[in-house]
Parts: sequence; C-alpha cells; structure tokens
Amino acid sequence: MKSADQLKIILNRIEGKPYGFYRDIKGWYDFDNFMLNIDYIQPDPFAPPSQVAARISRDVAGFPPELYDSPIRRIALEDCLTRHFYHQARKVARGKRGSGRSGLLAIDKPSQEVLMRTAMVINDDWVEARFVVGLPARGRRISVRDAIEIFFDEIPELVRRTLLYSNLDGKLLKKFVDLSEDSDYIRGKLPERGLVGFVGDGSILPRMSGIDDRPLPDEKAVSFQSPPELEVSFDCPRRGEVRGMGIPRGVTLIVGGGYHGKSTLLAALEKGAYNHIPGDGREMVVTVPESVKIRAEDGRFIEDVDISAFIRNLPFGKDTGRFSSPDASGSTSQAANIMEALEVGAKLLLVDEDTSATNFMIRDERMQLLVAKEKEPITPFIDKVKQLYDDLGVSTILVMGGSGDYFAVADTVIMMDEYLPRDRTGEARKIAESCSTGRSFEGGEHFGTVKARRPRPGGFDPRKGKHNQAKISAKSINTIAFGKDYIDLSQVEQLVDISQTRAIGDIINYALKRYIDGERSLAEILDLVEADLDEKGMDVISPYLNGNYARPRRYEIAAAINRLRTLKCGGAVSGEQ
Ligand code: ADP
Ligand code: MG
Repeated sequence: MKSADQLKIILNRIEGKPYGFYRDIKGWYDFDNFMLNIDYIQPDPFAPPSQVAARISRDVAGFPPELYDSPIRRIALEDCLTRHFYHQARKVARGKRGSGRSGLLAIDKPSQEVLMRTAMVINDDWVEARFVVGLPARGRRISVRDAIEIFFDEIPELVRRTLLYSNLDGKLLKKFVDLSEDSDYIRGKLPERGLVGFVGDGSILPRMSGIDDRPLPDEKAVSFQSPPELEVSFDCPRRGEVRGMGIPRGVTLIVGGGYHGKSTLLAALEKGAYNHIPGDGREMVVTVPESVKIRAEDGRFIEDVDISAFIRNLPFGKDTGRFSSPDASGSTSQAANIMEALEVGAKLLLVDEDTSATNFMIRDERMQLLVAKEKEPITPFIDKVKQLYDDLGVSTILVMGGSGDYFAVADTVIMMDEYLPRDRTGEARKIAESCSTGRSFEGGEHFGTVKARRPRPGGFDPRKGKHNQAKISAKSINTIAFGKDYIDLSQVEQLVDISQTRAIGDIINYALKRYIDGERSLAEILDLVEADLDEKGMDVISPYLNGNYARPRRYEIAAAINRLRTLKCGGAVSGEQ
C-alpha cells in the first residue's frame, strides 16, 4: 500500500496530461485514519465515473457491536450509513467542475426500503463505503488541483462525518436498526399467528404521488386504524407492543367504494415484504416474505409455462400445458404470472381488480348461460382461489370492489370506508348465503399442476459488441439491457430500487456461469444463488468492486428471467401439486 503523500506526488506528476494518465493512481493508499482504494478508473471524463472505496478499521470506526450483531441489524446499519453518506456527500462535495462528470462525488441513492446494499459493507474487521468519483479534467486534460481537493479534503471529510461513530447521532442509528429488527420480528411471527400480513395502527399508507414514494404529509393522510375484530398485537423486541390489523391466511377481500383507499392498502402490503426507513409511514406494514403481486400484463413474453390450471382448449388447439407466447393476452399473462410465482415458491398472491383482466377474474351466471363452459377456455380466478389455499397453502389478498360473487369464496372481508378498514366478513357471508349468484362452480377437483421448468443455458446471451463481452446494465428501474436484448420489468411492481434491477442483471449472468445447466429447475437455481448471496454477500456477482447493488428478492429475479425474450426451457421436470 502506498502512502497518501504518494498519491499527491503521482497526481502532481500527471497534472495537465491527457486523461488516460489517471491510470497511474489506481491502487490502495494509506490515509490518516482510513484506507482509500481507487479501484476502477474511468477512461475519459464523460464515461461512467470511477469506483472508489474508503475503508476504516472497525476499532477506529468505533461502532458499538450492538448495532450490527445480527444479519438484519448489520444490513440496517449498512443501509443507514449509506443514506447518511449520500446526504453528507451532497453537502461536502463541491460538485461538478470541469468537463463531463468532473468533480462528481456520490454514493448509490437508496429508496424508502432498507435493503442489503454493496455501497456500505461492515464486517468483523472494517467498515467500507463504496462511492464514485468523476475524476476531474479541463477538456480532456487532467486537472490536479480539483483532484487533490476531492481526495484530500472532500473524501476525508466525508469519512469523518459518516464512518466515525463518535461523529454520528448514536440514538438515530439505533432507532433505524431497531426498527428493522422489529419489522423483521413481526414478519417472522406471522406464520405461527396464522397471518399473512399486518398493518400497524397509525401507519400512513398513501404516498406523495405516483412517482414519489415518500409518505403523504400527516395533515393530508388518514392514519390507519385496525377494526376491533381483526386487531392483533406483537411484543416486539425493541419497541415493545405494536397493535394493528392482522390479515389471516386464506382468501381476503378488500372491498369498498371507489376512491376509498383499497388500492393504497394493497400497494402498501406489496411493499411489506421489505423493511422501511423510519418516517416512511409503512414501517409496521409487514407481509410474509413470499408475497407476489399478480397482474395482467398483456404483450409480455411467456416461455413454456403450464397455465392449464386456468386456461385450456384454446382455439387452434394451442397447448396450455406448455404455453409460450411472444405477445400474451390479458388473461393468459395473468395466469402465467400466477404460475411462475407459484413455481418459485410464492405463498401470498396480491391482486388488484384495477390491474386484472376482467375475464380472468369473474364469469357470472348470465355469461355462463350464454357462453357454455366448453366454449370458454378460462376457468376464472374465483373458482381457483380457494383451491390455491386448500391444495397449495397459498393465500390471496384481493382488491375487489366490482363483484360480490367473491363473497362466497372469501375467508375475510375488509371494507375500506373513507380510508379506514372495517371488518365485513359476517355481513358478506350472510349476503352470500341469502342471495345466490346463480353461477355454477367451474374449478374442477384440484387446483392443477405447478410445473417446474429447466432453463437452458442457450437461452441466455449476455454478449454484445465487437469484443463479444458480457454487457448487462440497468437502463432504469424497469429495464435491463441484457446483451442485445431488453428485459421489460415495468409491470413487476415489487421492484423498489434501481440498484436491485442492476443486481438482477448481473445475478442472471452469475447464475448462467454457475448454475443454469439445463438440468436444474429455476427454483433450484434461485435457491443456489440465494444461498451464495446469504453466505458471501452481494460482491460475488461482480468481478469488480461495485457499490451500486441492492439485493433483489427471488421473485423479481425469476420475473426478469421469465421476461427475457430469448429464454428457452427444457422439458418439464416432474410436476408437483
Ligand atoms: P380505491 O382503490 O379504493 O379506488 P385508492 O387506494 O386508489 O382508492 O385511493 C384513492 C386516493 O385516495 C388516492 O389518491 C390515495 O392517495 C388517496 N388515499 C388513499 N388512502 C388514503 C389515506 N389513508 N389518507 C388520505 N388519502 C388516501
Ligand atoms: Mg383501486
């Protein structure tokens, strides 16, 4: 390792030289209380910025072990420090000066969710922040004065402000970390309480806007209050008793008038698989981790999915046991979304009428009379939703303001009334008994087969360009460029952070090199990948230091693989029930 002074000497030597001479500063440097690792040097001032890390030994950083003595607490502390670094960087860094990205100093910007991130890594020996620097230039000539400012003023100041415990607000850190532990505690307790979801009293569910995930300000929002019939409480390890609404397993309907807050409740539950930051409003909105939002997604690509549980006898005899389509319809896409979720272990489906295909959801008496069962390929969800639970143990939470036919299959009915939930299970049951729908059940005896598919390695090609190198990147939270193809994730609603999208792209490549062999099923592949991420951390998915990953769930990794338009799956592995 070189000394910090040597960095200064090298910089002074390359002053005013062509940009490529920045190569010479790659390496590790010993600063007073931390080590600086200049790991990747951008080739020119306009290219993606250079990757740098500051590592400080655990003893010098001085974080009390209590803040990171379990995996969940460590992830929360890392996430919290990332946020702190992000905000301080905006204060400390003088910002853009010179050409292209010159002067940039930034860390990955986190969303409202607490995720395992590679921007900050804490282990038994050190704490390390990974951030990017736009190495400064005037035109294409190295500007050393600015570089020295960044390396010798800005970065050391950021390290002082964010990585030394003595300069941080210990109470705030503890609150952040404690919150994640408590949310996780509730998540872990849900199954033994017979629940799939929980919404704490006082939660603020509505968001600022469709493009701003921060909470609606308190004065505009009606805070959540559980109906007495569904109230449960948890004795959390840190904050003690937390009360709120428990959503039992089985089939739960969310009904109510238009604009009364149904979709807002479901949207909050969708994000309940993640922990949230203090002040988010959804801190105590928690679901089981195996939750998957299901929607119609017409136009999507589908490869070899068995959708016969829902759809059979398509025109022209198209096989729905091995259904493929470059351009699926609303109903076939919604069926495929369900089957793919089940294939990789979903235990809770979240469905909103707003984003469902009507003919997939309902088929009423009159329609049954006019269009005979033999003429209708679709078995509607209403005839399958109970079997999902009875046969497979998969629960559903369904927003349905438009059809009371569902009363007959619901275990719990929650009515949203001016943004407040009421328990209407009893009334709905009475109505279902006294007021027949006249429709006949079309669901058959069992739910049907959930097929495990074996992705073939030949269906993935991450290479692009004249050097035929793997080229994978996240173009937005919704789009992965994978070699020559684009993966469209715009309808995959439980992705919350572009850094997850970035990780998914590289995870697919990682899985391709190690586990996708045409023999293993998709679920097995995901099991192996997740075990690696648990055990070794997220750094395994990149050969380079990368501070821009956040951990995705297996369902979103699967969603991306399923939407890769070159995907090819082998014959079915033995079908499971
Ligand atoms: P629905 O699905 O029942 O038609 P939405 O959930 O879409 O209704 O909510 C309608 C509007 O009310 C949205 O703009 C949403 O932000 C707002 N809203 C939802 N819940 C609340 C609440 N608890 N307090 C204040 N506004 C809310
Ligand atoms: Mg709605």
